[in-house]
Amino acid sequence: MAGGQGMNVSSTDIAIIGSGPAGLSAALAAARAGARVTVVDEYIKPGGQYFRQPQARFSQVDERVLGKSFTAGRELIAELAAMPNVDIRLGTLVWGAFDEGILEIEHENQCERVASQRLIVATGAYERPIPFPGWTLPGVITAGAAQTMLKAQFVLPGRRVMLSGSGPFQLPVSTQLLKAGAEVVEVLEAQPASTFFRPFPQPWRHLDKLREAQGYFATLLARRVPIRFGQAVVEARGDGRLEEVVVARLDAQGRPTADGRRTVAVDALLVNHGFIPSLQVPRILGCDTRWDVEGLCWVACCDADQRSSLPTVFVAGEITGVAGHRVAMAEGQIAGLHAASDLGLLTAEALAARLQGPVRSRDRHQSFADHVKRTFAPRAGLYETVTADTVVCRCEEVTAGAISAIAVEWNGSLRAIKQCTRAGMGQCQGRICEATVARLAAQASGTPLHLVGRDTARNQIKPVSLEALSRPVVP
Ligand SMILES: Cc1cc2nc3c(=O)[nH]c(=O)nc-3n(C[C@H](O)[C@H](O)[C@H](O)COP(=O)(O)OP(=O)(O)OC[C@H]3O[C@@H](n4cnc5c(N)ncnc54)[C@H](O)[C@@H]3O)c2cc1C
Repeated sequence: MAGGQGMNVSSTDIAIIGSGPAGLSAALAAARAGARVTVVDEYIKPGGQYFRQPQARFSQVDERVLGKSFTAGRELIAELAAMPNVDIRLGTLVWGAFDEGILEIEHENQCERVASQRLIVATGAYERPIPFPGWTLPGVITAGAAQTMLKAQFVLPGRRVMLSGSGPFQLPVSTQLLKAGAEVVEVLEAQPASTFFRPFPQPWRHLDKLREAQGYFATLLARRVPIRFGQAVVEARGDGRLEEVVVARLDAQGRPTADGRRTVAVDALLVNHGFIPSLQVPRILGCDTRWDVEGLCWVACCDADQRSSLPTVFVAGEITGVAGHRVAMAEGQIAGLHAASDLGLLTAEALAARLQGPVRSRDRHQSFADHVKRTFAPRAGLYETVTADTVVCRCEEVTAGAISAIAVEWNGSLRAIKQCTRAGMGQCQGRICEATVARLAAQASGTPLHLVGRDTARNQIKPVSLEALSRPVVP
């Protein structure tokens, strides 16, 4: 269904989906060049994940807890909001795209179309959890969700908190929680210390990151929070909510070992094994994607100008490969400048001059991101925490056993798994479970992970009411 007759259509030079570091940077670069820019974000505040801003009802904010990202984001947003040629539409979901250059959006149960000459997709990433028995208990959430609760609503996930996962993201989250008053009991890093501290090429180019990491370690050390390497939570237990977790050592392949298991009393467990690009929008638009062998995820394809396989669509930020906010900002600027140049708003000389800084920044920070990606990609053994009766698809309550049984019968077909079990058909449309379902399908059928393929991308990427779709349009 492509929307009813008389649907409200607005037009702009450049439409940008996502107001995170990539989308905001793209908007600023394009707007400074003179383009009319419309930024659409489903969240009620601009900033995305890194620049996340608290909700409006909080008049007092503790900037010490929110950190540098909050203040930097606030300044960027203020500059953009003051520009007369920029329209920022918040609480507005891009739910579909049927014709090139035209987005279907929904705001407060009202649908609308946005037509643009150039489109920049900067929809970010979501977290990669690895399931284990008990992970659906209240009190078990992702590390990013805990950070969002803290940054947006000043709520702690619990009093006694443990983090279990892999990657540098655990460091800022644990220190932010400490500063906000939580007791962080332990941080479990699935990789061994020798991998975590593996030297990376040209460290002098990344002194800012080394200093940042040093600050996190200093805080954790001062507060006597142990970081335990090569360990992970393999079970969460409790009567109706989380009360304790079972921790295991991991072997060289990341498999939990039986020896020396211990239980720890906690009331919040935060899990995160990195991020996965949020590709629904580029996929429904028809942009090419590719399998990132080292990152173990699909990413949007683009050239050095951030142009996707579609000539009028640019892609920027985490969707081109998870690389953090600095790369996202550089890619956003590059996309915004090229989009403005396409519209004749920049001379070749002006474009070349303005591209210099962002291209340099992208290259510098990408090399560090590549190191992080290679170091922390989840090892196959970690998925041994997923037992046959572990619920994998939380929306439809489908167990790993049910998924693996269909995978064996249908040679790893994700389509068959979805149709026979409903895994991925619920509210989240597979965002939480798709990586685990693909892994189980690959394991059960003996198919390499990247050949398992993916489900078909469909419009209505998140639920939109029939009322909104059929409502007469405000002229
Ligand atoms: C939960 C979480 C927490 C993170 N915390 C940190 C951190 O503390 N430090 C750090 O360095 N990195 C963090 N990251 C990594 C983060 O992805 C990058 O640092 C940075 O925010 C990426 O910028 P981006 O613009 O590509 O995406 P994002 O910042 O994720 O922005 C994407 C935006 O697109 C919007 N969007 C997506 N789909 C739609 C749609 N269909 N319609 C409308 N709007 C849409 C989202 O609401 C979001 O605001 C975090 C990631 C996640 C997922």
